[in-house]
Amino acid sequence: MEERKGRRIIMFPLPFTGHFNPMMELAGIFHHRGFSVTILHTSFNFPDPSRHPHFTFRTITHENEGEEDPLSQSETSSGKDLVVLISLLKQCYTEPFRQSLAAEVAGGGTVCCLISDALWGRNTEVVAEEVGVRRMVLRTGGAVSFCAYAAFPLLRDKGYLPIQDSRLDELVTELPPLKVKDLPVIETKEPEELYRVVNDMVEGAKSSSGVIWNSFEDLERLSLMDSRSKLQVPFFPIGPFHKHCNDLPPKTKNKDDDEILTDWLDKEDPQSVVYVSFGSLAAIEEKEFLEIAWGLKNSERPFLWVVRPGMVRGTGWLESLPCGFLENIGHKGKFVKWVNQLEVLAHPAVGAFWTHCGWNSTIESICEGVPMICTPCFSDQHVNARYIVDVWRVGMVLERSKIERKEIENALRIVMMEKGDGLRERSLKLKERADFCLSKDGSSSKYLDELVSHVLSFDS
Ligand code: UDP
Repeated sequence: MEERKGRRIIMFPLPFTGHFNPMMELAGIFHHRGFSVTILHTSFNFPDPSRHPHFTFRTITHENEGEEDPLSQSETSSGKDLVVLISLLKQCYTEPFRQSLAAEVAGGGTVCCLISDALWGRNTEVVAEEVGVRRMVLRTGGAVSFCAYAAFPLLRDKGYLPIQDSRLDELVTELPPLKVKDLPVIETKEPEELYRVVNDMVEGAKSSSGVIWNSFEDLERLSLMDSRSKLQVPFFPIGPFHKHCNDLPPKTKNKDDDEILTDWLDKEDPQSVVYVSFGSLAAIEEKEFLEIAWGLKNSERPFLWVVRPGMVRGTGWLESLPCGFLENIGHKGKFVKWVNQLEVLAHPAVGAFWTHCGWNSTIESICEGVPMICTPCFSDQHVNARYIVDVWRVGMVLERSKIERKEIENALRIVMMEKGDGLRERSLKLKERADFCLSKDGSSSKYLDELVSHVLSFDS
């Protein structure tokens, strides 16, 4: 790992794929601008550093390591209660993070700043101040959902939260076009803790030296402006991160990904394949899994479906498929445990993305001009889906309650057969706008130059 004198950034990602990936992309962007990057990562979900050979990784080990580990309790570590899990992470890792950051700073060389995930909240602010390092935050979700999170106190006052079943289809007049059912809540046994985590994220962003967004102005202009005026801190929408392609050092490749692309996708017709993935955390019921399987099969279209082991509740992987199902599908459908999504979405054979609308998936699909079928599961996914369908108009919704084989066939027909009322054309137009933001005169390129100057100014 080369040390680049005087230009070091320390990053502290939240240890989940949807947070870690964009932080690594941001690390790549800084690396390309001449910074060296050190990643402080929790021992919980520690990644494989060999896949990111340009950065230095340090493990932060939490206090109870070796004793009874609260983070390994099945209820939290399986992602069932994300709110409890995030709170536990914050509790367990704050002190080890302090020690680790202090050691990095004492280790010599100028540390320009710390960039921590916004969800770590104000604890990282206190620690950074103590150690004498400026702190910026990375918000890995969109500005549209951030505005909804920032409005939680108001939404509680007005009685929208907690969500009542009788009001699900009511418009939230303060946040149009969101309906009550779109508000970014997470099912948890500790609802008050959800409000605390969200409030801490918003306040932590307010007290930072700047917020970096994996988004671009043309996509979320109003929400970005709104967040800016609420936060009153320097502000850098430099996304989509992964498309600063010349800036990103090549990642090491996974052999299986290549095989899927070469052996299977390459043989399919352009825009013929439905790519299905619900991200890294969402889980579905066995009944839903079977309806999706039948819907995809009956549609008679080629599909590539990411089924993570454990994603279908109560099962290991595909064993609940009826006998003979896989043989019957033959080459028409491909089940994988994980795939390089960026490469899949960029492949000419992919014609639609059935997604849970996590922010990374949303922006990745937008960048490739792939229309979406939206089945949001929790948190900001509902907000993103509403914007995909009603504002950007590059997708259609298929609610979870409507996951039924006939509905699925119908949705696929609409998205794939050009009966989508200009869906594909609008998707391609939005892709062009994303491309423009990254061009020399585009907003994301300008903000990136400003961000680099901002970070370097901390030294002087
Ligand atoms: N992803 C991937 N391969 C898969 C499924 C997902 O590379 O098989 C990546 C995807 O490209 C995205 C991230 O995992 O960058 C998922 O983040 P997102 O915000 O979409 O959803 P989350 O996992 O946080 O719910």
